[in-house]
Amino acid sequence: MESSRKNEISKGKIQELIEGYAKELLRFLESSSNTIVLTGAGVSTDSGIPDFRSSDGLYSIYDPNRVFDIEYFLTTPSYFYDFARKEILKMISAKPSATHYMLAELEKRGFLKAVITQNIDLLHQKAGSKNVIELHGNVKEAYCLECKTKYDFLKLLRSDDPIPRCEKCGGLIKPNIVFFGESLPENALNKAFLLAKMCDLIIVMGSSLVVHPAASLPLYAVENGAKLLIINKGETPLDHISMRKYECNLKMFSEVVINFLNRKDEND
Ligand SMILES: [Zn+2]
Repeated sequence: MESSRKNEISKGKIQELIEGYAKELLRFLESSSNTIVLTGAGVSTDSGIPDFRSSDGLYSIYDPNRVFDIEYFLTTPSYFYDFARKEILKMISAKPSATHYMLAELEKRGFLKAVITQNIDLLHQKAGSKNVIELHGNVKEAYCLECKTKYDFLKLLRSDDPIPRCEKCGGLIKPNIVFFGESLPENALNKAFLLAKMCDLIIVMGSSLVVHPAASLPLYAVENGAKLLIINKGETPLDHISMRKYECNLKMFSEVVINFLNRKDEND
């Protein structure tokens, strides 16, 4: 009895805290003219997609340092394709979380210029976000490493070929996902840094900001005069230069923001 009452009290306190955060976020958005968001794996864990880079969780049977290592892929592509056939096909049937929907809604209402993401799961687009910059590529496209012919990666995964080869030249086909040991797509990176330079508010969501150069974006934005808001469970190396840090559950937070937006509509 006693402990369940305690639980209820702390639940109420958490709700109150999150409502405070959500109200403040809306104030920040209203007073900013150019807001961008940087998202990491944490926004997709609520959709059932575990952090690729963490060694525990669903991917424990595959070593993420091997699955996404370009050198290893070139010598042993079967390791990646075995993983992809199970996990990437599962990933593309995932549904957006409250956070994805909230960000799409904020863009629709003119509060948000762009979402820059480290995720490859296409969930921002599925939720309705239009301006999405993918720093690590995505799971939709693939290309031949020899002749650069493009392929539909998901079609390849659904085919019987254990290791699909290029129809034209027999070359190895690699998805448009950035592997460890590869550089980031120049076009996306340039766009992201330009957005970071122009914005006056950058919000980091669900990223521990340890993977570079993605993690240098908020720093670059701050150096160019932007305010930084971090919404993440767990410390980040940029906490000390952020204007505010919300240490909370992203799903709960996003649901409260969506509720506030809907309530606002009713009152208008
Ligand atoms: Zn080819």
